[in-house]
Amino acid sequence: MNLLKLTYWLALVAQIIIRAPVARERTKEKITEQRVTSQEKLLLNLLTIGGLPFPLIYSATSWLSFANYSLPAWAGWAGVILIILALIVFWRAHADLKTNWSPSLEIREKHELITNGIYSIIRHPMYASQWLFVIGQPLLLQNWLAGWLNLVVFIFFYSLRVRAEEKMMLDTFGEQYRDYMKKTGAIFPKFN
Ligand code: SAH
Repeated sequence: MNLLKLTYWLALVAQIIIRAPVARERTKEKITEQRVTSQEKLLLNLLTIGGLPFPLIYSATSWLSFANYSLPAWAGWAGVILIILALIVFWRAHADLKTNWSPSLEIREKHELITNGIYSIIRHPMYASQWLFVIGQPLLLQNWLAGWLNLVVFIFFYSLRVRAEEKMMLDTFGEQYRDYMKKTGAIFPKFN
């Protein structure tokens, strides 16, 4: 396995390790609201397919080699840098959001609006991290199927999710969230 593929797999493992404690802790708190649509479920399933089975088949077999392409070395390094940045943002977001994190749109009994740490400059650091990751993926996995599916699907997922999430946060936290929106960027940092 080459360095680029290895970077991809190590990054996936790092994401699981970063998320595991939060995922475990959050199940102790009661959900008071959950907003899940079938569209979103479908897109999440596609993201899983683009993130796991395709990269695995590409890394472990030559079945997908008909869809391979080859980029210059600097592009591979750019991919490594993007993935490292993605992991740093992912780690900070989990450290600050703690058990307010959820895989689908949820409000918990003791839900707290987080506006500190990385959330003081961006409202969606986890999605920002996911953007960095899906842009880095086709640079690391140089194959049209293993590299690109997640980027294409994420464009749809992101636009749907952010709109629904901000509506849910406004319905729950009202003016407090509206104020918070003015002070922060969605995925690009806003420094006041
Ligand atoms: N959009 C955020 C969080 C993703 S996890 C990010 O990209 O970092 C999704 C859950 O996070 C949602 O169900 C919502 O309940 C919660 N959430 C989003 N922003 C929050 C905030 N500022 N404070 C507390 N919870 C938040």
